[in-house]
Amino acid sequence: MISEIEKASEFADVIELRFDCLDDVELDKAIAIVADLKCEKPFLATYRPLEQGGNNPALVSDDLHKRESFFSKARKNANFKFVDSEFDFPIAKTYFKNSVGIISFHDFTGSADDPEAIYLQKADVIKIAVQIDEITESIKIWKLLEKTKKEGREIIPIAMGEAGKWTRILGLAHGAYMTYAALDDESGTAPGQITAKDMRDVYRVKELNLETEVYGIIGGNTAFSQSPYIHNAAFKESGRNAVYVPLQVNNLDEFMRRMVLPATREVELNFHGFSVTIPHKQAIMQYLDEIDETARAIGAVNTVKICEGKLFGYNTDAEGFIEPLRKAFGDLSNARVALLGAGGAARACVYALKKAGADVTIFARNLDKAKLLSDESGIALNQLPTASNQLLNFDILVNSTPVGMKGKSEGESPIHKASLEGLKLVYDLIYAPEKTKLLSDAAELGIKTLGGMEMLLGQAAAQQKLWTNS
Ligand code: NAP
Repeated sequence: MISEIEKASEFADVIELRFDCLDDVELDKAIAIVADLKCEKPFLATYRPLEQGGNNPALVSDDLHKRESFFSKARKNANFKFVDSEFDFPIAKTYFKNSVGIISFHDFTGSADDPEAIYLQKADVIKIAVQIDEITESIKIWKLLEKTKKEGREIIPIAMGEAGKWTRILGLAHGAYMTYAALDDESGTAPGQITAKDMRDVYRVKELNLETEVYGIIGGNTAFSQSPYIHNAAFKESGRNAVYVPLQVNNLDEFMRRMVLPATREVELNFHGFSVTIPHKQAIMQYLDEIDETARAIGAVNTVKICEGKLFGYNTDAEGFIEPLRKAFGDLSNARVALLGAGGAARACVYALKKAGADVTIFARNLDKAKLLSDESGIALNQLPTASNQLLNFDILVNSTPVGMKGKSEGESPIHKASLEGLKLVYDLIYAPEKTKLLSDAAELGIKTLGGMEMLLGQAAAQQKLWTNS
C-alpha cells in the first residue's frame, strides 16, 4: 500500500485509498500507517461495500455496524481530506466535518432507473457512476453535470465501461469536480478506467477546457485502438488545444442524432472531427453533408471533419495503405494481389491497388455481400480459399478481414498456412497485435510480411492534415 501510494503521488492530485481492498484484519494497521505517512498529496478514504463495487466479499451494504466502525476509526485520522461514503449510508459529512464529503452512487448493472434521485442528496460532492453499454446512455449522466453547474453544486459524473470513457476524459473541462484514474492497467477499480499516466500525458485532462476541439474514434470496439495515442501525441506536439477520445458506438444512428448532428444533438461536446472504423465506415456516409471524390469512389469514409456545423467525409485509408506496400514490394503495376475481405478497408485497398496498376482478386466469405464491390470495381470475386493451391498464381496477399485482431479472434488466421506457399508478400491490415497469426505463418514460410501499423500511421497523418489544414 505504501509503495502504491508513492507511485500514485507522481501522477495524482488526490490519492484514493480503497480500504475495501484490504482484509478486515488489516484495517486498523492500515489506518495507523496512513496516519503516520508523510505524503504531499491528500488522501481520499473509501470503504465500498460489495454491492457498490467494493472488493471485500465480507463487506456488504447491510453491515452498517462494520461500515460505521471503519469511519469512526478513520475519523481519528487527520490525513483524510476527502471521504467517500455511499448514498445508502451517507456518513461522510457527519463524521468528517473538515473534510470534503463525497456521497457516491455506483450502478454496475446499468439497471438503476433514476440516478437523479441520488443527486438530490445533500453533500459537498455527489459522485454518480453508472455502467453503460451504449454511448448515448451517457447523455443522462452528462446532463446531471450541466444541471449541477447551473445550481452551483459539485458532481463527479462517470459513465463506466468503454462506451463511457469519454466522460472520464472530458469531465474536468466541463466542470466535474474530479476524475478517477487507475494506477496502472492491472489495478483499475472500475470498468473503462484509464491509467493516471495516460490521463495526464496522453489526454492532458487538466489542460482541456470548453474551447478544446474534440476529435474521436467512432468504432464498434475502441478498447484496443492505438489512434488516441497517435492523434493526441500529434496535438500535443503542435500545441493545439485539441483532444482525441475513444467513442465506442453500437447504434450509429442514435449516436449521430443525439450527440453529433447540430439540429438534434442533446449535448454540446465541441466535436471537430472523427476517425471512423469498423463497422461504421459505410453507414456514416448518410449523415454527412459532403463527401470528397476519393471517399465517394471508394464508397467508405474513415475521416469526418466538422466545420461550421457541416460534416465532411474523406478517406485516408487508400493513401495509408498503398505507400508501405509500395515501399516493401516495389512497383505494383501488374502485381497479382489476392485481397481477403470486402468491407470498408477492402474498398480503399481496391481503389489504391487499381490506381497503382495491380491485378486484384477479392476473396470473401459472403459472395452476395462482396458482389457489390466486385461489380463496382470490375474485379474478380472468389470464395475465401480453403484448398492449399488456390493462391498459387498470386504475388501478394492482403488481409482486410478482422480475423486475428486483438479480442475474440486473436491467434486465428483467415487462411490456412499451407495456402500461403508461393506468395512473395503477405500484408495484414491488422495492427493490434502487431504480429498476427497470419504474419507469423507467412514468416515461417520465408515470405516477406507487412503489418498494419505503418498504414495506421500513414492514414492518421493524412487525417491530421485534413483536420488542422496543415
Ligand atoms: P468491415 O467493413 O467490417 O469489413 C470486414 C470484412 O471482413 C467484411 O468483408 C467481412 O465479411 C469480413 N469478415 C469479417 N469477419 C470474417 C471472418 N470471420 N471470416 C472471413 N471474413 C470475415 O471492416 P473494415 O473497416 O474493412 O476493417 C477490416 C480490418 O482492417 C480490421 O481488422 C481493421 O482493424 C483493419 N484496418 C486497419 C487499418 C490500418 O490502418 N492498419 C485501417 C482500416 C482497417 P462479411 O461482409 O461477410 O461480414
